[in-house]
Amino acid sequence: MKKLIAGNWKMFGHGGEAMGFIEEVRTKLGGAAPKADLLICPPATLVERFVRYVKELPIAIGGQDCHVKPNGAFTGDIAANMLSEIGATYCIVGHSERREYHKEDHATVKAKAQAAIDAGLIPVICIGETLHERADGKTLDVLKAAIKGSLPDSDKIVVAYEPVWAIGSGMTPSREEIAEAHHALRRMTVPGVRLLYGGSVKPQNAKEILSIPDVDGALVGGASLKAADFLAIVEACP
Ligand code: PEP
Repeated sequence: MKKLIAGNWKMFGHGGEAMGFIEEVRTKLGGAAPKADLLICPPATLVERFVRYVKELPIAIGGQDCHVKPNGAFTGDIAANMLSEIGATYCIVGHSERREYHKEDHATVKAKAQAAIDAGLIPVICIGETLHERADGKTLDVLKAAIKGSLPDSDKIVVAYEPVWAIGSGMTPSREEIAEAHHALRRMTVPGVRLLYGGSVKPQNAKEILSIPDVDGALVGGASLKAADFLAIVEACP
């Protein structure tokens, strides 16, 4: 199976950047098939535009969050079916920034992932330990609890292992630590589920990270905002 390189644009980007990004990707790919499956998750305001811009390019577009309900009086929220209606095919759920700033727990993340599946989207479910939990030797226990608590019973999902302390920090776990976590996650998940690593993936470290066994791709934040960096990570796929 091809690796999946997913970009999380977080709350960055306006229309001009979206168009510039896609045009650069189009030019650089020059009609060639990319070495990985590609996904960009822009802010909700750009999902529809991205879907339009990527026409004929092999890039999937996803949301960064969805509500657990298909509709209702939830001001400011977006239902998964609203994302699928405008052409999204994936949705990130349970990112550590949502868990931290919006107090999302495993039960909420699981319900969001199920809502995404019900709307025909593939949820990218994020899990990972804090620095304290790692220092206390609790990483595998944390991952086990996250798998049990945040994953719906489905193989139509992607799991992103994102150590909270590695996100946006420039720090990454060692090769052995990533291998250990992914090996454990492989045993804890249904066959066929893609396991992405996320946390400070850059063109400089992508080759090493993407060569680790059981790493089926990467969820990339900061480095996904520049087409050249994003494509360099794609090119680093074995
Ligand atoms: C992320 O936001 O999921 C992420 C991994 O960010 P960064 O690559 O910037 O660490």
